[in-house]
Amino acid sequence: MPDQSCCVCQNALKEDLKFNQFLGTEGTDHRCRICIHCGLIQRSLLPAPDEPTEGLLYGEYTAGDNSANRRSLMRLDLIRQLLPENGLMLDVGAGSGAFVKEARHQGLSAYGIEMLPQDGVCEWLVNHDISKAPFLIDGRTFEVINLNHVLEHVSDPIPFLKGILASLSDSGTLIVEVPNEVRALSIRIKQVLGKKSNSKTAFLDHRLFFERRSLINCLEKVGFQVIKASTPRVCYRNGFIHESFDQFQSLIGQGNVLEILARKHNL
Ligand SMILES: [Zn+2]
Repeated sequence: MPDQSCCVCQNALKEDLKFNQFLGTEGTDHRCRICIHCGLIQRSLLPAPDEPTEGLLYGEYTAGDNSANRRSLMRLDLIRQLLPENGLMLDVGAGSGAFVKEARHQGLSAYGIEMLPQDGVCEWLVNHDISKAPFLIDGRTFEVINLNHVLEHVSDPIPFLKGILASLSDSGTLIVEVPNEVRALSIRIKQVLGKKSNSKTAFLDHRLFFERRSLINCLEKVGFQVIKASTPRVCYRNGFIHESFDQFQSLIGQGNVLEILARKHNL
């Protein structure tokens, strides 16, 4: 029986009818529920890989096309501004390590960890579950930790973020980016634009659906203090419908991703 309380604040969950209607997941085991306190939409089970599903979200945003690479380079510029001399940077959920590799190519002391087994594991790309133990390099914490489109895949975000907090230096900065689920509005727009236009999307393995308030609440719960929250528009070049949706959100001041900078609280 799936857990019926919020994975962040333990309050009661209720089925989010509109969201499930949009996803086509009404009445299924993997339907989404919303926390009545913090507004985080979450699901405790994922659809089976071979289950027919519908849904439109951000497409193959990790595919590494030119626009995604531009975004990566912007992120590296930000990291360079935040990183003190000889500071260490950690990419959590590093995948194949392409981002870390580019950071190292640019001269940063960058490391990556990935929970899922990867080819190419080496001294700077390690298999590690940060929710089980902090990750340190020679006993040192990190001055910048990057969490790029990872948190929405995590089933238990509190121990995961506690592991990140313990791996961050006292004056360090956490950068978090997740899809921006501007709830009712995005559902409405996506319905209008045609939810069946792109059924194979990354959304299928999302467990958590954030908007600004629920993401900030989640970070504060484990002892982070949010110092900047923005909703930039990121273009992933996935065709006219995605472009139109992104542009519309941008016009009303809501880009398609949430980007948050946070530090340890009271420091
Ligand atoms: Zn909650």
